[in-house]
Amino acid sequence: MNAPAALKAPAGSDCAPVLKERGQREVFCGLTGIIWLHRKMQDAFFLVVGSRTCAHLIQSAAGVMIFAEPRFATAIMEERDLAGLADANEELDRIVDQLLARRPEIKSLFLVGSCPSEVIKLDLSKAAQRLSTKHAPQVRVLNYSGSGIETTFTQGEDACLEALVPEMPVLGADAPANLVIVGSLPDIVEDQFKRLFAGIGIDHVASLPERAVADLPGVGPNTRFLLAQPFLNDTAHALTKRGAHRIDALFPFGVEGTSNWLHAAAAAFGIDAAHVDAVIAPYQERARTALAHQRERLAGKTIFFMPDSQLEVPLARFLANELGMIPLEVGTPYLHTAHMAQELAALPTGVQLSEGQDVDKQLDRVRSARPDLTVCGLGLANPLEAEGLSTKWAIELVFSPIHGFDQAGDLAELFARPLRRRDVLKV
Ligand code: SF4
Repeated sequence: MNAPAALKAPAGSDCAPVLKERGQREVFCGLTGIIWLHRKMQDAFFLVVGSRTCAHLIQSAAGVMIFAEPRFATAIMEERDLAGLADANEELDRIVDQLLARRPEIKSLFLVGSCPSEVIKLDLSKAAQRLSTKHAPQVRVLNYSGSGIETTFTQGEDACLEALVPEMPVLGADAPANLVIVGSLPDIVEDQFKRLFAGIGIDHVASLPERAVADLPGVGPNTRFLLAQPFLNDTAHALTKRGAHRIDALFPFGVEGTSNWLHAAAAAFGIDAAHVDAVIAPYQERARTALAHQRERLAGKTIFFMPDSQLEVPLARFLANELGMIPLEVGTPYLHTAHMAQELAALPTGVQLSEGQDVDKQLDRVRSARPDLTVCGLGLANPLEAEGLSTKWAIELVFSPIHGFDQAGDLAELFARPLRRRDVLKV
């Protein structure tokens, strides 16, 4: 076997100790993930069991779809449900029956829990089992929680994919080795990666999720998986419990991350590193050229990450090592040190890491540091802009295609744009 490409970045093992904070947080809830998950899984429907607030969140985050038949909805719990005066299970069964009668193309239905359904302890896993039995074999009913109680918005995808893991077909010990890319990626990015893996010589490659839930990849002791997103800890754990092996790598952002990610997969499949280098060289070259333009604008600029998407550590590594930015503080809601080990080692020396949030204290640190750019949630961006600080919405990084070589320039552009806008406004 070949070792993954050695990291050229300075070791960041001497980062300042992680600052752990437990206070008020400013993040969206896990329901937000429905926006990109319903676009990805085209035979799935997401039924949020929640309040009018949940319905408003989903509608405004997704934009009101006037012309399309949306593949998400909210079963709104009224006061009678919340007070326990109505049988919420009966109501839910009635709504699901109506929905499936009207939308026969739905093959998988996710019942998505919310804060209100959790508060009244509505057992959606039992409901999913009951409804699955009733509507089998046409429809599979699954459940997960998108509640905002003690979670952050990307955990909605983690919970959804974790719910899919038990549904993955069993592969035996005699099955050929397969690779699963874990994380919902835009189709165009997924196709690029699959072409690269084919060029490298890895034959059996699938994604979790695929475009149709019906096409879930198999899993067994010969399955290796690569995380494409850093926020899929529970999914990774569930896959490991089913016998699959995680390939440790950087996350595929920028030239460094994508090269390392592909090399790590190739090494796990016994493929020569020199062959991988030959296959990816033209892609690396193109990406480096795209990054060179942005480097002129971004090098030497300071950046502060508020904890939000869980993408913060790999993005800080990319911005520092490939664009010369200076991360002042990298906040993340949760720091999974095992999955992040390589990322942490690749961060520049002395970066302040913080885990969790105490928003007022963190805002004080932003105001005192006055970074060139602050990456934060929507609710914090406007007040900071009003104080003359440039911001980048963290959620935009989850909605945009940012993985891989061909998107490296676009990823850098997402950070360059607010700085350009600030310069224009100053003139
Ligand atoms: S799940 Fe909770 S946090 Fe999310 S919209 Fe509903 S009530 Fe609000």
